[in-house]
Amino acid sequence: MNIHEYQAKSLLAKYGVAVPRGGVAFTPEEAANVARELGGPVWVVKAQIHAGGRGKGGGVKVVKSIDAVTDTAKAMLGMTLVTHQTGPEGKLVKRLYVEEGCDIKRELYLSLLIDRATSRITVMASTEGGMDIEEVAAKHPKKIFKLAIDPVTGLQPFHARKIAFALKLKDKQVGSAVKFLQAMYQAFVGLDASIVEINPLVVTGAGDLIALDAKMNFDDNALFRHKDVAEMRDPDEEDPSELEAAKYELNYVKLDGKIGCMVNGAGLAMATMDIIKLYGSEPANFLDVGGGATKERVTAAFKIILKDPNVKGILVNIFGGIMRCDVIAEGVIAAAREVKLAVPLVVRLEGTNVELGKKIMAESGLPIISGDNLADAAAKVVKAVKEAA
Ligand code: ADP
Ligand code: MG
Repeated sequence: MNIHEYQAKSLLAKYGVAVPRGGVAFTPEEAANVARELGGPVWVVKAQIHAGGRGKGGGVKVVKSIDAVTDTAKAMLGMTLVTHQTGPEGKLVKRLYVEEGCDIKRELYLSLLIDRATSRITVMASTEGGMDIEEVAAKHPKKIFKLAIDPVTGLQPFHARKIAFALKLKDKQVGSAVKFLQAMYQAFVGLDASIVEINPLVVTGAGDLIALDAKMNFDDNALFRHKDVAEMRDPDEEDPSELEAAKYELNYVKLDGKIGCMVNGAGLAMATMDIIKLYGSEPANFLDVGGGATKERVTAAFKIILKDPNVKGILVNIFGGIMRCDVIAEGVIAAAREVKLAVPLVVRLEGTNVELGKKIMAESGLPIISGDNLADAAAKVVKAVKEAA
């Protein structure tokens, strides 16, 4: 799960990470009130969307009067902000963060993330902060300093000093960096985060270190332990299909291809996506309906798949173990009737009551194409989609 910058800053501040003062605003009046409380003389109005690159896209504005805060808020609220992370459709701005202006001397990059290769929390630091870190990684990989942290020791002061030196920090800034990094590490572990990214981490004119931007992602499987974090979820920022799927306990991830898939079991769903590619097409989604899927869930899954206008064909691949093939067949037929299915549908069933399942489908009178095995089903759906185009 992702959260907004202002939420990440409030969580990090609780752990002792230095952040500028600021407040969230949903209207221009609220923005002006926050600005008055902060006192000025310089404020920064920042669009809150779940994407970076806001600065370049016009979502971060430095202003020098309360009237300018109000005017900027008026212009920003309701605008569709396009950044390199939002895609061309952009994101609608519904909330703002009004923050005190910061006297920036240097912009650095600092993040913590889980490195799957080493199974460790890894610190990434760079003197090239503020800009697109992916670009730095691609063009100047040597400018990114990495350090994996042993979970037994946690982040020790000597680790933090190594990072501080890599960031070319000096004198009392090294001590500040140790405090900053240890607080950041505690927040990461304590909140079961998967990413904490501070870009930029700035050295101010007075020589202090402060997090000017903050991004946090969390491990969804640990959210039950963090009600305060779970409550920060902003449904406006999430894919509506994925939200709908979550309601029915379906694991759905939208992708860009043409062939919608409905599969039971995550491994089989991955294999189904692979084989669609092998036969020359692309999956439109990942969807695991789970082991105990009911007719209602199968119907919901169908509707979610078909909401995606890119879907030109559907492949249902079910191994009936706990789940019986006849139940699946009934669910598929009910769903196909309800949604007035207009794209080719290939179904491959295997396992418990498979013969009964196939019979139910054959007798339904619906144009369902039966696949004999996974390869056959994939070949048939790819062919049917090509022919329909
Ligand atoms: P994004 O990464 O989405 O572009 P940031 O929060 O990193 O958004 O802001 C972009 C840039 O705007 C920063 O690199 C910094 O130069 C400037 N900026 C952001 N917040 C402040 C602030 N409080 N005071 C001064 N400048 C700021
Ligand atoms: Mg940033």
